[in-house]
Amino acid sequence: MSTKYKKCIECGAEMKGRSDKRYCSDSCRSSYHNRMNSDATNFVRNVNNILRKNRRILEENNPNGKAKVHRDKLLEQGFKFTYFTNEYVTKSGNVYRFCYEQGYIELDDDMVALVIRQGYVE
Ligand SMILES: [Zn+2]
Repeated sequence: MSTKYKKCIECGAEMKGRSDKRYCSDSCRSSYHNRMNSDATNFVRNVNNILRKNRRILEENNPNGKAKVHRDKLLEQGFKFTYFTNEYVTKSGNVYRFCYEQGYIELDDDMVALVIRQGYVE
């Protein structure tokens, strides 16, 4: 049997021994936990989760690449209109907002038109 070297998930140091060990030292264990529980990390994680959820909601409501839904339906599903990855303003001033490739534009009468963007645009 060959000895497996695992790496400390905090500092990357190689470790011999028990394979369930994740840290080379107590100080690596505590600094890893502190980092993972920091406010900044939680903030990023929460925003990422909101964006992914928004994207999933748009995707579920737009299986064919084009759809119209009522704003309230998206809100009921947990969609957050204040979170998006980018905006696209057309020449005529219409504002499309995207959560990754899934996008929408707010229309009159609280309706929302859903679109999907092909390819990455700067
Ligand atoms: Zn370490």
